[in-house]
Amino acid sequence: MGRTSKDKRDIYYRRAKEEGWRARSAFKLLQIDESFNLFEGVSKVVDLCAAPGSWSQVLSRKLVKDGQNKTKIVAVDLQAMAPLPGVIQIQGDITKVSTANEIISHFEGEHADLVVCDGAPDVTGLHDIDEYIQGQLLLAALNITTHILKPNGTFVAKIFRGKDVDLLYCQLKIFFPEVTIAKPSSSRNSSIESFVVCKGYNPPDGYKPNMSNPLLECTQDPAFDKLEGVNRVIVPFLACGDLSAYDSDKTYDVNTHDGKQYVPLPPVQGPINPPYQTACFLKKNSLLATQKSSEDQDHRDDPTLPQ
Ligand code: SAM
Repeated sequence: MGRTSKDKRDIYYRRAKEEGWRARSAFKLLQIDESFNLFEGVSKVVDLCAAPGSWSQVLSRKLVKDGQNKTKIVAVDLQAMAPLPGVIQIQGDITKVSTANEIISHFEGEHADLVVCDGAPDVTGLHDIDEYIQGQLLLAALNITTHILKPNGTFVAKIFRGKDVDLLYCQLKIFFPEVTIAKPSSSRNSSIESFVVCKGYNPPDGYKPNMSNPLLECTQDPAFDKLEGVNRVIVPFLACGDLSAYDSDKTYDVNTHDGKQYVPLPPVQGPINPPYQTACFLKKNSLLATQKSSEDQDHRDDPTLPQ
C-alpha cells in the first residue's frame, strides 16, 4: 500500500493532519458538539481512554483560554500520551477505583461537568467478541462516571450498535433521563460505531458507586430492579455534524484545486512507547527469532543423518 493511499481513501484522516489533530476522531467530538453544545458552562472535564489525544486536543482548544484559566481537563489512558496545553494526564485504567480517586483529587474534591469516552479495546476482527468487549468498556466508563460526574452532568461515549445494545441503553437510562445516539458524519456509515450522549446525570436514590461490580452483572442491587420487565428502550438517533460535511465513506481527489501536487503530511504526534516498539527494534536488527523449517527439525531429530 502506497504512503498516500490512506490520505486518498480517508478525507478526515487527511484533514486531521492538515489541521494538526493527532487523530481523525477529533472531528467526531467536534461534530457531536455542533449538535449537542457539549461545552457550554463546562469547567471540569474528564477524557477517558484519551490517547493519542485528539479528543483532549478538542477540549483544550475549546475550553482552555489564556489568562483566565479556570478550566480543568483530566485525560486518562492505559497508554502514555504526549503533553497538551491545560490537560492533566493520568496513565491509568478506567476500571480502577484508584483512577477515580486520582481524578477527583485533581478537581480538589469536586466532580466533573462532562465526561467523554472514546474508549476502544484492541479489536480482534471477531465481531461478536469485539461488540461484547466494547460493551464492557462502555459499562466500565459508565461505572467510573458514576464516581466522578456531578448531578445534572453529561456523559458522552462510544457505543457499538450491536445486537444487545438495548441492554446498554437500559443501563444508561437508569442514570440519565436523556439518552441520544449520535452518528457524526466523520464516523463511517459502514461502521456500527455510534456515540451515546447522556444528559442530566441523576442516579437512583441511594445509589452507591461501586467499582468492584460491573454494572451488567449487578442484579442483586435494588437500583437495578428497574431493569425488570423492560426489554426494549427506544432511544432517539441523531445524525450529527453539518449535513454537507465530508462523507467519511467516500473517496475524494487529493489534488488541490489550484493545480498544486498533493504532498502527504507526517502524523501530527507519533505514539509514545507503543507495545510494538520492541518488535520493530528486533526486526530492524535481525534479532527476531525465526522458525526452523520442519525439514531442518526432522534432520536434527534423525540420529542417522550427519548433524
Ligand atoms: N479518543 C482518542 C483520541 O481522540 O485520540 C482515541 C482513543 S483510542 C480509539 C482508544 C483508547 O482506549 C486507547 O488508547 C486505549 O489505550 C484506551 N483504553 C482501552 N481500555 C482502557 C482502559 N481500561 N483504561 C484506560 N484506557 C483504555
